[in-house]
Amino acid sequence: MSASASAISAKARACFAGTAPRGARRALARSGGTAATSADRCDARRSLIPRAAVAEPPGPSRTDAELRAEEAILAGDDSDGTIAGFTKLEWSCIQTPARYLGNEIGAVHKDWDSAEVRFTMAYPEIYEVGASNLGHVVLYTILNNQPGMLCDRSYLPGEDMEQLMKSKDRKLFAVESKRPLAHFDALGLSLAYELGAVNILEMLHLSGVPLSWKERDDAPDEVWDVDNGSWPLVFIGGPTATSNPEPVADFCDFVCVGDGEDIMPEIGECLKKCKKDELNREETLFRLATEVVGVYVPRFYDSPPGWGGAVFPIREGAPERIRRRVSDPNPLMQIGLVPYVSTVHDRLTVEIRRGCTRGCRFCQPGMLTRPARDVDPEVVVEAVERGMRDTGYNEFSLLSLSCSDYLALPSVGLEIKNRLKDENVTLSLPSQRIDRFDDSVANILGGAGKAGLTFAPEAGTQRLRDIVNKGLTNDELLHGVQTAYDRGWRNVKLYFMIGLPGETDADVLGIAETVEWLIKTVAGNVARKRDELTLTLTLSNFTPKPHTPFQWHSVSTDEFERRGTLLKAALKKVRNVKSNWTSIRISAMEDFIGRGDRALCPVIRRSWELGAHKDTWWDGQDASFRAFDGAIAEAGLDWKYRQVVSGEWDVLEKLGDKDYRAQGGGGKGRVDRGALADERLDAPLPWDHIDTGIAKWWLKADLQKALEGITVPDCSHSGICTECGVCGDEFGENVVAEVPPLPVFEGHYTPDGRRTQRLRFRFTKDGKESFIGHLDTLRLLERAARRAALPVSMTRSPYSSRPRISTAMALPLGASSEAEMMEIVLTEKMKAEEVRAKLDEQLPAGMRLTEVEDLPVKYLNGRYMVRFPPFFSRPTPETPPASPFVLPRE
Ligand code: SF4
Ligand code: SF4
Repeated sequence: MSASASAISAKARACFAGTAPRGARRALARSGGTAATSADRCDARRSLIPRAAVAEPPGPSRTDAELRAEEAILAGDDSDGTIAGFTKLEWSCIQTPARYLGNEIGAVHKDWDSAEVRFTMAYPEIYEVGASNLGHVVLYTILNNQPGMLCDRSYLPGEDMEQLMKSKDRKLFAVESKRPLAHFDALGLSLAYELGAVNILEMLHLSGVPLSWKERDDAPDEVWDVDNGSWPLVFIGGPTATSNPEPVADFCDFVCVGDGEDIMPEIGECLKKCKKDELNREETLFRLATEVVGVYVPRFYDSPPGWGGAVFPIREGAPERIRRRVSDPNPLMQIGLVPYVSTVHDRLTVEIRRGCTRGCRFCQPGMLTRPARDVDPEVVVEAVERGMRDTGYNEFSLLSLSCSDYLALPSVGLEIKNRLKDENVTLSLPSQRIDRFDDSVANILGGAGKAGLTFAPEAGTQRLRDIVNKGLTNDELLHGVQTAYDRGWRNVKLYFMIGLPGETDADVLGIAETVEWLIKTVAGNVARKRDELTLTLTLSNFTPKPHTPFQWHSVSTDEFERRGTLLKAALKKVRNVKSNWTSIRISAMEDFIGRGDRALCPVIRRSWELGAHKDTWWDGQDASFRAFDGAIAEAGLDWKYRQVVSGEWDVLEKLGDKDYRAQGGGGKGRVDRGALADERLDAPLPWDHIDTGIAKWWLKADLQKALEGITVPDCSHSGICTECGVCGDEFGENVVAEVPPLPVFEGHYTPDGRRTQRLRFRFTKDGKESFIGHLDTLRLLERAARRAALPVSMTRSPYSSRPRISTAMALPLGASSEAEMMEIVLTEKMKAEEVRAKLDEQLPAGMRLTEVEDLPVKYLNGRYMVRFPPFFSRPTPETPPASPFVLPRE
């Protein structure tokens, strides 16, 4: 044990023994649930202290004058020149401070004191990812629409902000109220992928909230009251938590299983009552578990030895299975925040269909989101039209697991195009089935060269596509790529997987053969280089997911390596193909965690302690792998991880197919366990208590069909039900919207480049808005002009038409100014003052348009001459300062 570790351990022991001063206990309790101060805690993670030193339960109390003082600092506005307790200079040194300001268009600032229940939606990724996550935005909007409920937001801070917080011993705060996360009643975290679990721990640690529910517990006779020292209820939601919450069961007080739209207000109402009834923490959670369908409280369940990680209720009354919640998408709730910084999906997103019933056997979303529900086409059109006008975005995306299965798509897309035809807007579709990609869908996309096209054939041969139930023929594949090519796309992205059950070497090589065939058939004889077709392949490693027919299959990283090498060699011989490969180690860890049980909680926690957190999975993979390996070894689970390396059980071997091995299927080193197959399929699984609606027998039957190469049709569109078990009163039914008639296309947008009027504005930039960077300010002004419906002249670039809005100079980040200059060129003459008032209304609080000047149109835009006052000549009341900006001479 290192010296620092033993010192921390001693400190911890003294605290828990009650011999340490109260201040030290408080520091421990706030130190991320471990026995160290925040600085110690950070060092401890890196110095590999034994887990015993960090896993003991600390004292529960956190309320004290010290914490209240911190709250006062953080809750303060910038009246004393600070924001959230940081000075302007400190904010200026942070990269993209606008991430933390909470002043975006659409941000809600509810009164703290009058709220009966206070939530924070803490997204365990940086702002650019979190603020563009549709689920995050929707739940934030829905909760803030409830009477008596307040919802704030928080994101994983950047490295520089984290350092600044640590240097000032500050806890992570919510962006709007600037209050520490520990001051909210409920702290919601989203788990969207398996490795995101370490980010959740990082976020709790930065918030000073103990990491496990045991460490957050109150004494049984204490009322659960965050204002009086209880810790918030930490809950986790999202697709990965719904699929299998066990690997993160130690870290949360409860899990929300399924869609969040209906369950969140119910949780809020339940918490209101629990607070009124002055229940203790455990009883509050019990009421949630028993009164709100879809709430899973891990403390009321346990996993007995010998049951394969399956969990069972240990408190009478707790439901044996937790039913997944199903909510219908409501696009009008999706018109939310408009961030100032450029986010990963910097556009309006409107959901058109939730769920997919295609039945691809590897696809977890396709199993976990049934039934499929189309949104009424009129509602989609209204939401897009209103959303574009309210937000000022110039791009929107129609979202669904498989957009082209929304049969109303061509009509809806054309209708939106017609309605917004005078505005420069682009449509993007994240996912399409290649068999449904035709001229009608191509018509509504942004146009060749604008929107990228990605299709997912998944497998290289018809045989394997049938095994996985992809339901795609070579002819359909060719027709889709041919249509794209004919409509002007010269680069198409294709997504394939290797390692699927039943895959042989012929299937792996089939990927290279298929892409070569596509390129040659579609554009094999073109004369000009620029007419050639390029295919960009994303090749990922199949990882079996819970609740799918392939949930019993074991992958083998050794096989991934071998098959990858085989395919790389084959692809080298094919022209015009680019390939991107996903990391085998990451796939293996996703599989290991994703299908793990509660025994993985200490592994995840330990790997986080050893340095696996945040983006280290992607940027510093070696360190993360070392941390993860170390944690697995400490937990004595190497044997289990080795199964992922060598492959434990290939489900296809159940068939006893003699030729399968000979063709390179299965993988070397595997034991043929065909005789054990049925026994294995019946064994309990760690996620059996999650009731997705799909019967386990149906998954087994579908697996059998896979092994026999039998496909099943999409039940929403074929009307053929294979009785998976979902449809009924509890989960609802498939909803397929009636397809409206295709409207007459009124023509593409043509930029209006007329220059009729040039207006020059003087504006202020102060307060929080002084931390919006120059490019972000330009984007903010463009969006404000669109919201104000000003007839802004557009450049006539054939590729990207831009509004004629320009600013004079780039103001340094954090600098305030009363004399910023901006020009707008309009296509129609308007009263200058009217334009100023309309635009001013759309600007955030720290930006005001103070003057407007109508200029001759012929001046070149963006040209200013700065006139500084003479040296030592200070303005007096008699000689006020003139605007330093004057027009250049002609
Ligand atoms: S089409 Fe297949 S892969 Fe795509 S979402 Fe549906 S089930 Fe999943
Ligand atoms: S119950 Fe039938 S119709 Fe409903 S999702 Fe399952 S297979 Fe489709």
